[in-house]
Amino acid sequence: MEGVIFDIRHFSVHDGPGIRTTVFFKGCPLRCIWCHNPEGQEFDPQTYTRVNRLDGREFKVTGYAGKHVTADEVMEEIEKDIVFYEESGGGVTFSGGEPLARPVFLAELLERCNIAGIHTAVDTCGYADNEELQRIIPLTHLFLFDLKLAFNDDHEKFTAVSNKNILKNLKTVSSAGKEIIIRIPLVEDITDTQENLAGLRNIINELKGITRVELLPFHNIAQSKYRRFGRSGFQEQVERYDISKAVKIMDFFLESFPDVTIGG
Ligand code: SF4
Repeated sequence: MEGVIFDIRHFSVHDGPGIRTTVFFKGCPLRCIWCHNPEGQEFDPQTYTRVNRLDGREFKVTGYAGKHVTADEVMEEIEKDIVFYEESGGGVTFSGGEPLARPVFLAELLERCNIAGIHTAVDTCGYADNEELQRIIPLTHLFLFDLKLAFNDDHEKFTAVSNKNILKNLKTVSSAGKEIIIRIPLVEDITDTQENLAGLRNIINELKGITRVELLPFHNIAQSKYRRFGRSGFQEQVERYDISKAVKIMDFFLESFPDVTIGG
């Protein structure tokens, strides 16, 4: 059983409760123009060349984004931190990229984590085959579910896919009685318009199982990652999100939900 990942981060505290290990799957069906993880978009491992300069000399180094791994190898990394999960109420979070884009590998890892008694979270953009999702739901304690744009035309324009399947999948997770944390990226004049925020709030209001809404202000610290792959654009043109605006948006969501945070 093999998959492709681009990182495993130990001692993460922003991807669910307690101290967590976050496993980043490589490959995502979306192309959000503000994406912070361009190395997670392509499904296959990639190589890139980085050039370091000193006193007019260039030092070239080959870097790697992503590698094939077995479920055994991933579990070995996850199980290193079991004592921290137990002490902190933490566990493992599968993120990406999009973990639901490799549902068989994801299910295998979730199954093994459950056997080991490890709390499981899936951080998803929600774009997935609904039947595959239904196989993942019983193996998952918590969903970190991204909601970006309420209206389909906007969703297609800024992420390259429709939101219909995503909204259907969100309802499926909610109807299954799972705990859900909704994550909303705040991107100036794209996701933070009053119309979009009201649309998202209406969608969330219809759901059960929502324990928190997390607002994730845009930051442009991924510029160097884009350059690595010969890409540029949005990350270089847009400033990090104004935190005072994020606070006002938090107040807007607090009118409907008791637990709203800025950041994960
Ligand atoms: S869903 Fe996440 S990983 Fe995929 S393109 Fe959008 S921001 Fe990037």
